[in-house]
Amino acid sequence: MSNIAYIGLGSNMGIREDYLLLGLKALNNENGIEIKSVSSIYETDPVGYLDQQDFLNMVVEVSTTYKPEQLLEITQKIESKAKKNTPVRWGPRTLDLDILLYNQENIKMDDLLIPHPRMSERSFVIIPLMELNPQLMLPHEQETVSEIYRRLTDKEGVRLWKTNNGVGEYGLFES
Ligand code: AMP
Repeated sequence: MSNIAYIGLGSNMGIREDYLLLGLKALNNENGIEIKSVSSIYETDPVGYLDQQDFLNMVVEVSTTYKPEQLLEITQKIESKAKKNTPVRWGPRTLDLDILLYNQENIKMDDLLIPHPRMSERSFVIIPLMELNPQLMLPHEQETVSEIYRRLTDKEGVRLWKTNNGVGEYGLFES
């Protein structure tokens, strides 16, 4: 499986951790996806629409045989499975999956933008991504994840919630 992608997962409704786990299991069940590493879970203040519960966020690295648009179909299928409920843009949701990066490619389709727009301004993406691969280059920024981390302004809104130490249910997904 030669393509490396990073996917961000977030939940701020119901039993948030269960939705993240559902997302990981569903990704792992796809023939063309192998989960390579899983970040810790972070609790984060909502961005945009503020009158909602805090999120849990994490990032996973996968290797995949799927093309970006196939990966989007899969992440959307998983979101609907988690009964995504989005009455308000940036509002509460059971499970949100964002394709952050796909190799070093810049992809601009009608319904798919990779790198994910605004990812480099968002501590809830950059902090878990840095845990997985601090030297990773972001193709649209020409900077590494750790360089981007240094200039983030909303770091205090992201708190470590559960460490992934490679054991327990999240550890199962580390190859
Ligand atoms: P959201 O409501 O934030 O989950 O946004 C979902 C919409 O974003 C879908 O219509 C997708 O087609 C679009 N989209 C664009 N780029 C991406 C990406 N890199 N990952 C996931 N969704 C994306």
